[in-house]
Amino acid sequence: MAAESNAVYSNFDTIVLGAGIQGSFTAYHLCKNSKTVLIDQFTLPHSRGSSHGQTRVIRKSYFKDYYTQMMTECYQLWKELEVEANVELFRQTGMLVLGKEGNPEFQTMKSTLVENEISMESFTSEEFSRRFPAVNLPEELSAIFDKSAGILYADRALKTVQDLFQRFGGTICDGEKVVDIQPGSLVTVTTTARIYRAKSLVITAGPWTNKLLNHLRLQLPLKTLRIVVCYWKEKVPGTYGIRKSFPCFLRIFDSVEHHIYGLPSNEYPGLMKMTPDQDFILDHHPEHNNIIIGAGFSGHGFKLAPVVGKVLCELSAGKEPSYDLSPFKMCRFQSNLKSLL
Ligand SMILES: Cc1cc2nc3c(=O)[nH]c(=O)nc-3n(C[C@H](O)[C@H](O)[C@H](O)COP(=O)(O)OP(=O)(O)OC[C@H]3O[C@@H](n4cnc5c(N)ncnc54)[C@H](O)[C@@H]3O)c2cc1C
Repeated sequence: MAAESNAVYSNFDTIVLGAGIQGSFTAYHLCKNSKTVLIDQFTLPHSRGSSHGQTRVIRKSYFKDYYTQMMTECYQLWKELEVEANVELFRQTGMLVLGKEGNPEFQTMKSTLVENEISMESFTSEEFSRRFPAVNLPEELSAIFDKSAGILYADRALKTVQDLFQRFGGTICDGEKVVDIQPGSLVTVTTTARIYRAKSLVITAGPWTNKLLNHLRLQLPLKTLRIVVCYWKEKVPGTYGIRKSFPCFLRIFDSVEHHIYGLPSNEYPGLMKMTPDQDFILDHHPEHNNIIIGAGFSGHGFKLAPVVGKVLCELSAGKEPSYDLSPFKMCRFQSNLKSLL
């Protein structure tokens, strides 16, 4: 969009701030029913947030069953996107989950898969060695296999959602940093290039969320997440790669703060912020109902972006959300939510 100095752009119903995977999916859902602009500070594509890189793990195995339930629809929406754009975004490889039988998280993951009737396998050590001869399973560990899991091609997925958003009439304004937000019945957003005014604003600014929320006198309890991700690249082509369907893995530990997961990739993606309980924040601003915030994706948000985008769209349109959002409300952090009001 060409910038006109001092002009106020008020021809959009909704502004989405941040064109990572969450903002892009939100904008994609919104543009089907409302005029939507998606703003990003960097020229797209960029590699400075959380959503770039070659690959992300997609899986149904989770410690908390509300994510497993959301993943059923996520798989459908990822599939729909592949069909709409005629592009491959997902490759099924399965995922090995390794942990001690007595570990409560290992047990929860197993029971969540069983209760939600997700296809999985468990193995004796002989069966495991036969099935995965390249993987050494220590005696004290058990293994389950989430068959539905695999790899999402992250950069390609992000570009696909943004392309479809534009194809359905959405507007992307990139290379424009948001420098001010004024709440009101119409929200005013000032960027380095122009001023926008719209009925609602969705903020999906990834690691920059609290900087932007400063303008709205709110601070969320987000801290930098340190996780160990093991990325591998095949030395001998055709051995442990995606095309060979070599599985991703999750190693659950008893005594360390974070588990390790592994997946094939050539590149290490960037920054991320986590909430104290590692659940997302999907909620209205406590003072301004027409400002919606999606944040704190805690290192596991990519696969869930189709449903995250859908519920952020529903919140911004004033509709009843399709999922129970109580685990994602800000008020759960009442004691460490800093309202600067
Ligand atoms: C190392 C790593 C491994 C991961 N592995 C997995 C995995 O295997 N599976 C999985 O599901 N998830 C995984 N994740 C998590 C997932 O990638 C993130 O949850 C997701 O990408 C978050 O997207 P986002 O849109 O919230 O943030 P971002 O992608 O960071 O997007 C935020 C956007 O807001 C823009 N912005 C910020 N401030 C401004 C401003 N002032 N003006 C304009 N624009 C602004 C930024 O430029 C940026 O483009 C991983 C993350 C990392 C970092």
